[in-house]
Amino acid sequence: MRSCCVGNSSRGVPSMQFARKTTTFWLALAGGYVLAQLALTAWAGKHGPAVSYLFGVTAPLLALAACCRNACLSAPGVVRTGWGLFAAAMLFWSGGMALSAWQDLSGHVASDTTYFSDFAYFMYGAPLLLAISSVSDRHPSRTLQWLDAVQVLLAAYLTYTAIFSVSPFDQRSIAPIPASLLVTTYNVENLVLACCASLRLLAHRRDGAQGRFYLLLSVFLWCYAACAGAYNYLTLHALAEAGPSEVLPSLPFLLLAVLAMRVQPGEEETRPPRPLTLLIDNFSPIFFTAALLGLGFVVLREHFYLAASALFVALAVHALRSATLQSRYMQSELALRAAHDKLEKLSLTDGLTGIANRRCLDQALQAEWQRAVRNQQALALLIIDIDFFKSLNDTFGHPYGDACLVQIAAALNSALPRASDLVGRFGGEEFAAILPATDRAGALAVAHKMQEAIAAAAIAHAPSRGGLVTASIGLALSDGVPTPAQLLAAADQALYRAKQNGRNRIEDSA
Ligand code: GH3
Ligand code: MG
Ligand code: MG
Repeated sequence: MRSCCVGNSSRGVPSMQFARKTTTFWLALAGGYVLAQLALTAWAGKHGPAVSYLFGVTAPLLALAACCRNACLSAPGVVRTGWGLFAAAMLFWSGGMALSAWQDLSGHVASDTTYFSDFAYFMYGAPLLLAISSVSDRHPSRTLQWLDAVQVLLAAYLTYTAIFSVSPFDQRSIAPIPASLLVTTYNVENLVLACCASLRLLAHRRDGAQGRFYLLLSVFLWCYAACAGAYNYLTLHALAEAGPSEVLPSLPFLLLAVLAMRVQPGEEETRPPRPLTLLIDNFSPIFFTAALLGLGFVVLREHFYLAASALFVALAVHALRSATLQSRYMQSELALRAAHDKLEKLSLTDGLTGIANRRCLDQALQAEWQRAVRNQQALALLIIDIDFFKSLNDTFGHPYGDACLVQIAAALNSALPRASDLVGRFGGEEFAAILPATDRAGALAVAHKMQEAIAAAAIAHAPSRGGLVTASIGLALSDGVPTPAQLLAAADQALYRAKQNGRNRIEDSA
């Protein structure tokens, strides 16, 4: 994402002022919300709890709206998914609050049935955990995302069952659990979420929109842990009946709404992930599997079938995840190898004629030279130069000249007798042929064949230059020549002589 204050200062300053004004506006609105909650709750008298619940449900809905806005503005990818999951968490929390209000205000005492509101509060953590642990791949696999979602949902379900000793949708009575245990459980859940989000922030703090998302998530979760902890402590110890403490649960959501409205989502950064990022990213799925196994064993005695299914799902998800990752790595490796081979081929091929280029010729000459020395065999080199090519270009134009080069390259290639021989474009309208294990007579024969192939191609030349395209060839042999560079120089001198002696001919360096 490009921040509005980055770049041109003449445009950046007004944008910063605008952002500051927007923040002040949202902060004022949040302050007004808190004051209105306090004033209306006090004014409503015996209907105070209803008013308080109304504000308690509305605050997460405001945060939900801000998260939806950011999800819509973000580019498709991990940040958009994150904001969507953040919004889902807000929906669960406001749903939990609405259920609490219904249970409380309708006199539907929750001690003789399952706590639906507590299930909703538990599920609030599930999308957040999913947002914290989602893979930050730029092309995330849908299969992996679904597997993660299954694991998180199952973990939340099992945690609820383990704590309350009953399934959330089971209409059986549950043994009342100590309120202090429930508060401790919530506090642990909040702190674990805040720590995990901070860990993810540590890994992605420099990753643009993703870093900003984890920063906001961490700020919200720490604020939520503090406010919920304080509220639960006060309620548990009956230190506050109602009144000012009732605004505590709304505060983190108002803060989230203000901060999220300030975010200007945009493109995600495309920097390669650092080792720490990869380590943290890859750690989270294993954590889920271990949690599922642990929870499965905890509820095994009371809920055998649920536990057995959880253990089966944990192992199946782990196996599926490993298989998906393995096949993705193999696919990437194959694609990488194919791209590497293609690039290497391109780097050694002449773009116009499709035969070997100068780089390829240089490498081949070095390699064949070493082989010739080792095997004590002669190595022949031919340099072929088209005659009066400048006139051809001047007469018929460059496109015609290019087409002529393509035809000549094909003709030269067709004249090579062995698979180990190599012809390439040396530069401009010059070609070179490397003929391993070839003596003088053999090299001369190949040179003649080349001239015949060019003549057979019958490429029209300017009438003043004889009517058909011809080439001159310089020939050199490695016998008695100390280096490949000197072999090249010898072939070049021979070619020069061929030009001097009237063109369309072959000259030997000997
Ligand atoms: P000579 O018989 O002495 O070799 O004369 P020449 O005209 O062939 O040689 P010169 O070195 O004077 O000119 C080479 C020409 O080849 C000049 C240049 O414009 C042309 N040329 C080089 N590369 C290309 C190319 O890729 N396409 C085309 N169409 N022309 C090229
Ligand atoms: Mg030339
Ligand atoms: Mg020429």
